[in-house]
Amino acid sequence: MMYTCEKHGEHKISRYAKSMANPCPICRRATLLPCRFQKADLNDFITGEGLEAQNWLQGPMQNNLLILGPSGTGKTHLASAITIAIPDPCVLAKLITAREMSQAIIAKGTDKEFSERAFLIIDEIGRSFHTPAEQDRMFDVVNSRYNEMLPTVFVSNLKPEDLRPAWGDALTGRIMDGAKIILMRGEDRRIVNKIGPSRVRSDTSSDASSVVRSNAPSDAAE
Ligand SMILES: [Zn+2]
Repeated sequence: MMYTCEKHGEHKISRYAKSMANPCPICRRATLLPCRFQKADLNDFITGEGLEAQNWLQGPMQNNLLILGPSGTGKTHLASAITIAIPDPCVLAKLITAREMSQAIIAKGTDKEFSERAFLIIDEIGRSFHTPAEQDRMFDVVNSRYNEMLPTVFVSNLKPEDLRPAWGDALTGRIMDGAKIILMRGEDRRIVNKIGPSRVRSDTSSDASSVVRSNAPSDAAE
């Protein structure tokens, strides 16, 4: 059974999906994202990060992707755009912060939802874990996914050289094996806004002061 979405074109859908208000699988994937990022698009990025992400999505997608950069540079926005742009419409992706994932694993008593999901995006993996148990839970998820060759996107404000000291050898090794890194090139847009509009260059400039086009949602919550 086929369904034609205004935004995403024709897709094969199940009989179950037909009864939904919008059976398009890509639209449904977007609704799993935080409200702020449901319209994120790889074309929102004028400094090349969207293109890098597109290239990664067109590869075998069995290795991980790391999105690194200071806060406010659009990391969660990029991760959301990637989620929507996954070529296989049947892949249900989940975006969750490291802290939320840890809490969900405790609440459910299992990490299956994260260790077995076809595509997982873990946001806000910082310099330290709140407890050693939280680090263990992260390792278990990452290790399962590594063994099953399931792609994971990791989003962090750490620099590449700080990953191993922060996360330890075992975890960093599994995350980094064959991984692609995208370094966000923009300044913190919240700071740019405070300094004033004269610092914000136009889209036609080659300078990276403003990373995301003005019609894109801001990710000030990042
Ligand atoms: Zn759609």
